[in-house]
Amino acid sequence: MIRFTPISFTCPNCGAPLRFSPTTGKLSCSFCNSMTEIRPKDNTVQEFDLRSALTELEHNAPKEISKTVACSKCGSDFTLTPYSVSTNCPYCGTPAITTFVNHITPEAILPFEITQKQAKKIFAQWIGSLWFAPSALKALVDTDKELHGYYLPYWTYDAATTTTYQGQRGDIYYVTVQQRRIVNGREQIVQVQEPRIRWTPAQGRVGRVFDDITIEASETLSRKILGALGSWDTSRSKPFDERYLSGFESEEYSIGLDNGFELAQAKMHTIIRGDIRRDIGGDRQQIDQMQTRYANTTFKNSLFPVWTTHFSFKGKDYYYAINGQSGVITGERPYSYTKITLLVGFFLALFMAIGYYSEYFDGDFGSSFNGYYQR
Ligand SMILES: [Zn+2]
Ligand SMILES: [Zn+2]
Repeated sequence: MIRFTPISFTCPNCGAPLRFSPTTGKLSCSFCNSMTEIRPKDNTVQEFDLRSALTELEHNAPKEISKTVACSKCGSDFTLTPYSVSTNCPYCGTPAITTFVNHITPEAILPFEITQKQAKKIFAQWIGSLWFAPSALKALVDTDKELHGYYLPYWTYDAATTTTYQGQRGDIYYVTVQQRRIVNGREQIVQVQEPRIRWTPAQGRVGRVFDDITIEASETLSRKILGALGSWDTSRSKPFDERYLSGFESEEYSIGLDNGFELAQAKMHTIIRGDIRRDIGGDRQQIDQMQTRYANTTFKNSLFPVWTTHFSFKGKDYYYAINGQSGVITGERPYSYTKITLLVGFFLALFMAIGYYSEYFDGDFGSSFNGYYQR
């Protein structure tokens, strides 16, 4: 446990605490409404060499440290959750920003662009639009519940890759074969076209430059939820500045640089396989061997904005999250089994009806289809 004195930013006009405003991109005073511009100390976002950072691995391991702070306004003591960097005082709501304890600190930040109010609206629309949701859901869920605004840590990796591969190219061709068929109760020989694949060896080299492959560096929200939050427009990143954290919760990385790079390599691998398939050409491709060389591999740590909370329905908690940059929402949700059963029942009845009619018309359809193949 370490004791921290929180940093707080105060209004130059009246001395009240300042909070970052997603609407204006500035610090705003809730007391006198004045705005303060955020002028970054350093205007460049740097990428760092991955190889040299990985050689200091032990240095880069995430540190799980609990921090205790005393609120700068009301003086109350409180403890932050592990990896947490900023929060609001649980007693008076005053922003409390501590310092990062991990070796690698954020280089860039995507500031919140979606406000708490907009996020609540997005949630209300989402909950109202869910298919097969229990009818009581909309009435029972509090769509005005406060959301937590989190800046979550991400790794972004860049790399120039060259991959040599060996594989096979498959081209489809057709052969005419004879088949025995029963047509109108009589056996006949018909000729049909059947596809075959001709495989030929293929090898080559593909290259691709990756920019900002994005990997979650936090385990606070499930990978499934984070993965469904859509893409991040990292071209709108700002050089990191603590002032963006004011009024928001934030975290530092709990997934290390090395583990993050393994996940990034898996992502790149999938894209490279697509490149190889295109390079091989033909109708089918088989990749037997591939070897990728990574050059100019760099990384940086960034913070991305997420609104999140959970709702309870019939004694169960459902988590959801909203991309604080694009407004994309994703989450867990309840299903109404009555509605699903009714729909499945409807389709079963429909299929049975179609089955009945097609059986009824079978004779006619059958002969005309078979006739098509007759030579
Ligand atoms: Zn003020
Ligand atoms: Zn307080």
